[in-house]
Amino acid sequence: MINEVILCKYGEIVLKGQNRRNFESMLIKELRRRASPHGVFKIYSRQSTIYVEPQNDECDIDAMYTTARHVFGIVAVNRARACEKSIDAIMALCEEYLPDKLYGKRTFKVDAKRSDKSFPMTSPEISAAVGGRILSCVRGIRVDVKNPEVTVTVEIRDSLAYVRAGQEAGAGGLPLRSAGRGLLLLSGGIDSPVAGCMMAKRGLEIEALHFESFPYTSERAREKVMQLAEEMCEFCSRIHVHVISLTEIQEALRDSCDEDYFTLLLRIFMMKLSERVAREYKCGALITGESLGQVASQTLDAIAVTDSAAGIPVLRPCIGLDKNEIVNLARYFGTFETSILPFEDCCTVFTPRHPKTKPRIEDCLAQLERVDFEGLMERAYATLTTETKLVFPEYR
Ligand code: ATP
Ligand code: MG
Repeated sequence: MINEVILCKYGEIVLKGQNRRNFESMLIKELRRRASPHGVFKIYSRQSTIYVEPQNDECDIDAMYTTARHVFGIVAVNRARACEKSIDAIMALCEEYLPDKLYGKRTFKVDAKRSDKSFPMTSPEISAAVGGRILSCVRGIRVDVKNPEVTVTVEIRDSLAYVRAGQEAGAGGLPLRSAGRGLLLLSGGIDSPVAGCMMAKRGLEIEALHFESFPYTSERAREKVMQLAEEMCEFCSRIHVHVISLTEIQEALRDSCDEDYFTLLLRIFMMKLSERVAREYKCGALITGESLGQVASQTLDAIAVTDSAAGIPVLRPCIGLDKNEIVNLARYFGTFETSILPFEDCCTVFTPRHPKTKPRIEDCLAQLERVDFEGLMERAYATLTTETKLVFPEYR
């Protein structure tokens, strides 16, 4: 249907006064970048709506629609058709366009909106006229104004009238990059990809850091993490993934420290290295997938230890979520199936049999006296390599 267009509504950003223009242009820019593999679209905003209009028959409007639903900052997305602003044109369009859209539905209502108050009919008059026409051209459907299966919306806007049947939720949140940049500690698990997407939803550009422990962790484990980062790009668009090797650190801890402390000490190193990467790559916060009480290293005392090692804010968006809630989000963000592939993580090599659940910071620091902390940090940092993942190859 060549002249179907996509209308994107934004929510929260409408409230942002001064910033509004800025945010609007961020959304438009992001939609334009996201549109490129799907054809030539004209994308612009009017009256708190972003219009996405295909410019020729080659445009893949289904793919563009899906993409628009994954752009943070957009709260609702719908497909509509436009016509000139006369009741005759609107009626003709309804008759041509709606029967397919309403096929098999039992109930509907019509919602008319006039932002152009010079239109000669009132909203209730438009609704009544359009409703009557639908009843006469769609078999078996009836009106239910309280609880309709579909709402048909007729909007009389500045330049044209738009007709649509229903709308779907967008990704919500704030536009990517509107809140700065965060460094996600990305493991191969279920939680950290979700944590990254949740913070991207609040406007952070995501940079990722993965710790590996080759040869204790495999090449496949690293590939899994790269695949997760790529999948996250459906929502995060572009992620630079940094990888640091913890092999030497883990061996040093194994050789010199008490086993009960392995995980905590390793996490202290991870936080210190993360802080350094964050500063180098201008990230204002770290992001982890921790959830309170989920495992021994995520008790309140353990979190206090890792927090004190960080030196910059640590955002933990999963902290109050249950596992099943995180799993549901992982399915929504599209990372779940990859996350459950069975590969080892650096945190699972040399795991203590009895990890400390009530660690004291002083005791952890005393343990660290036994290793060459600065030297290990320097040599680990020197192993840093970076790969960039994009939602599609032409995204820039
Ligand atoms: P996840 O499902 O995200 O792996 P988890 O429940 O397995 O989390 P932990 O292994 O204790 O929990 O890790 C807690 C957090 O620490 C992770 O969510 C992640 O942010 C970070 N983390 C753990 N392992 C790594 C790693 N190898 N590289 C980077 N970050 C990691
Ligand atoms: Mg893990």
